[in-house]
Amino acid sequence: MTDSPQKYVVRTFGCQMNEHDSERISGLLQSDGMVAVEDDTDADVVVLNTCCIRENADNKLYGTLGHLKTWKDAKDGRQIVVSGCLSQKDKDVVQKRAPWVDVVMGTHNVHRAAELVRESRVSGPITEIYDEAVNDDHILFPSALPVRRETTFNAWVTIQIGCDNTCAYCIVPAVRGKEISRPFADIVREVEELASTGVTEVTLLGQNVNSYGRDLALSARQAGDDVRISPRFAELLRSVGSVEGIRRVRYTSPHPKDMREDVLRAMAETPSVCEHLHYPLQAGSDRVLALMHRGYTAARYLERLAEARRLMPDLAVTTDIIVGFPGETEEDFVRTLEVAAEADFDSTYTFIFSPREGTEAASMTDHFVDPAVVADRFERLRTVVERTALLKHEARVGRTEEIVVEGPSRRLPDITTGRTRQNKLVHFRTAQQLRPGTYATVEIVRAAPHFLHGELREILAEATHKIRIPVASA
Ligand code: SAM
Ligand code: SF4
Repeated sequence: MTDSPQKYVVRTFGCQMNEHDSERISGLLQSDGMVAVEDDTDADVVVLNTCCIRENADNKLYGTLGHLKTWKDAKDGRQIVVSGCLSQKDKDVVQKRAPWVDVVMGTHNVHRAAELVRESRVSGPITEIYDEAVNDDHILFPSALPVRRETTFNAWVTIQIGCDNTCAYCIVPAVRGKEISRPFADIVREVEELASTGVTEVTLLGQNVNSYGRDLALSARQAGDDVRISPRFAELLRSVGSVEGIRRVRYTSPHPKDMREDVLRAMAETPSVCEHLHYPLQAGSDRVLALMHRGYTAARYLERLAEARRLMPDLAVTTDIIVGFPGETEEDFVRTLEVAAEADFDSTYTFIFSPREGTEAASMTDHFVDPAVVADRFERLRTVVERTALLKHEARVGRTEEIVVEGPSRRLPDITTGRTRQNKLVHFRTAQQLRPGTYATVEIVRAAPHFLHGELREILAEATHKIRIPVASA
């Protein structure tokens, strides 16, 4: 009799980088013979891939681990894994506070997921946190190892890990390490491979994609190569965008201080690059932007934005804004309202400042803004950005747009959801189910602040992707 394979669940908290890391953890576990399941009840291993960017992630994690203790005690052999930014930050604290956790691994140890799960079955609890990334391109970049992708027609592709900036509020540089760019040819090769399996849309991931490549020329020179010019993000966009079969290219996130005209031109001149720019403003007051060390003023931000819209008239722009940064006055906040209104965003992710231990802003306790004032500002900002978003959406009514089908709507299964090139969700009805990855046109008939309603007009291309099965890395 053969043993049945171990089953696992990966639960992800946080950003796209984390979601992509989770795909990689899944890929590694599958390559090791494990099988993915939907529910903890069926699982032998639960992986929590954590985030520590905002909110009370710590309390949430330890609360979840409390519940998982009951789950673990209910059946012999069950294992709990904690990975990601919070374990990188908390290190051995995780197992001190929750000794029933089997594996704690950091952001630089993801490639070890399967081995650590196996080892801990024999040796008991393990905490393994490398302080920095392993110097090997095949280990370094999430996409370079087996990946069990959550979606089939689109894929994330990491072009850079870490961050060299020093935004005063941000914990990312501490938990993700220094910026390292992935070799240009490796990225293009991965996109070609994805396209050959029928993937039609890729999203390039990095914390500051505009600085992509800066470190590559330096490391090549250190290795003795006569390289003078770094590959640039603009060139990467053009190369990835011209891979046959790729219909849509997206990327996140650019940093406004490093956004240059060559990137905007590459976007405008490469037909597959979508007309969507996520352009994080963070604050509208120059004083607050300087305290945050963002490296740009509101005027410079708006100037670049105007240039982007001049080159791409149908560009959708989304942003991140933090409310209640230490020392933010009413006057500063009003400036954020003004700049947000002037920037005319399609959608805004608004965050309440959250002190992250170890960051510069967390030590500015004397200047923390009263939570009631922050809550009031948050609501005022929400009113402004939702109004703009609705106006932007209303302006699309009557237009025919290309969408790619994502699948049935989560809440209304008889409705199909698609995404436009501007990254807008469109809900529409169809007589028959359309396979995710199908391209079609819809006419926009109604608008809401967060999505659009449409009517199906024409199928442009059927989905072509095959189901990918992860393979063990060499
Ligand atoms: N690298 C990207 C950039 O510079 O825009 C984004 C990094 S972060 C994962 C995503 C967003 O989280 C940031 O743009 C910022 O608005 C928000 N954020 C980061 N740290 C925060 C904090 N301590 N409190 C509130 N929001 C925060
Ligand atoms: Fe954080 Fe700033 Fe780096 Fe973005 S650019 S990850 S906000 S430090």
